Amino acid sequence: MTNKTLASRDLSVLWHPCSQMKDHEKSPLIPIKKGQGVWLEDFDGNRYLDAISSWWVNLFGHANPYINAALKDQLDSLEHVIFAGFTHESAIKLAEQLVDLSPVGLDRCFYADNGSAAVEVALKMSFHYWRNKGQTQKTKFITLENSYHGETLGALAVGNVALYKETYAPLLMDVITVPGPDCYNRDAGESWADYSTRRFALMEQVLQQHSDDCCAVIIEPLVQCAGSMRMYDPIYLSLLRAACDKYQVHLIADEIAVGFGRTGTLFACEQASITPDFMCLSKGLTGGYLPLSAVLTTDLVYQAFYDDYQNLTAFLHSHSYTGNALACRAGLATLEIFQQQPIIDNNKHLAITLAKVAARFHDHPNVVEVRQTGMILAIELVKNKQTREPFPWQERRGQKVYQYALSKGVLLRPLGNVIYFMPPYIITAEQLELLADVAWQGIQIAVKN
Ligand SMILES: *Cc1c(COP(=O)(O)O)cnc(C)c1O
Repeated sequence: MTNKTLASRDLSVLWHPCSQMKDHEKSPLIPIKKGQGVWLEDFDGNRYLDAISSWWVNLFGHANPYINAALKDQLDSLEHVIFAGFTHESAIKLAEQLVDLSPVGLDRCFYADNGSAAVEVALKMSFHYWRNKGQTQKTKFITLENSYHGETLGALAVGNVALYKETYAPLLMDVITVPGPDCYNRDAGESWADYSTRRFALMEQVLQQHSDDCCAVIIEPLVQCAGSMRMYDPIYLSLLRAACDKYQVHLIADEIAVGFGRTGTLFACEQASITPDFMCLSKGLTGGYLPLSAVLTTDLVYQAFYDDYQNLTAFLHSHSYTGNALACRAGLATLEIFQQQPIIDNNKHLAITLAKVAARFHDHPNVVEVRQTGMILAIELVKNKQTREPFPWQERRGQKVYQYALSKGVLLRPLGNVIYFMPPYIITAEQLELLADVAWQGIQIAVKN
């Protein structure tokens, strides 16, 4: 078996996500034979440094021995069981730990099986909470400009990235979209905190107007990842928490991408010392092994559903694979690694190294901004640094960086013209240097006419 034979079999039966399949006439699909640590290896023996953690899910490397052993053990006792009326030890332990580790007050854990499903659950739970409380006029959701919450119809509706949303607009529920705190747009010399605070005024206005008919505000704390890794200051979260309390609107924190140490703390919300009413987790939850998501919420919310059956207040949402035993066990092993090793501390050092290796990009004539929050670093390419005029999207400059990086054994997958590093936490300083070198060379090639 070679790359070529597998790619050709693939292309005759498969349809891949987030892809124009016709692109593969020119850029070959890469069949991966195995993964080891930060490395992926294809069927021709080429290796690729996984600089984007396989779409932001992998924390401790591929084929991690500790998670592998836990899964093998789980496999021999229980692979899956219906989660209504039944339960199992891994689901219980994982929920106990999530409740323990998450912001104070999040005391209940509801499982689903992917990030979008977690967002759907949080939206439905919020709406249903108000309904159970007799507030049936609360039916709307508030979201931020440039946000992303997944691609099922409900999650897509509360997102705001045109590339994914526009086509399906006629199918989506109406939402209230508020200009965001994205600090790329701050004035020259203005701090992240000042800009984020200033932008909050727009949110406050909307909350005031819609306190009667709104269920919840949904946000990605600190980094809008799919929205080109745009970032903002924690002050926005503190202000939002206070305003949501004041106007009686829930706060849904979508930590699907930023949770589990990505931003420098275990959860991004910690940096603003807030407890959201709902926190959505997925991606890193299983260390990048298996699909699983969790929605954490408060006892107050839980109690609003807890009643005699005849009163019909129960939350009936379900997925066949809710609380899958293998996935829960992978989650448990992932949290055990956080407990056994000083991961968050190590990440602080790694983040400093990341900043150092990327320092040279600041002065590049086509780099308008290098921004970083913890273990996420993004480099924004533009056509004109002074006017900030972007490269036309049709030119697909980022795609050229992607192709070049692959040829040098690095998996970078830019978001449009934003090149970013979001590596597994086991990456070394040397590997970060390699990443930066390859990205630098790739950018040189990509910005040429
Ligand atoms: C990836 C992502 C989702 C969707 O998760 P899926 O598992 O891909 O459905 C939702 N919200 C955020 C912030 C994400 O990054």
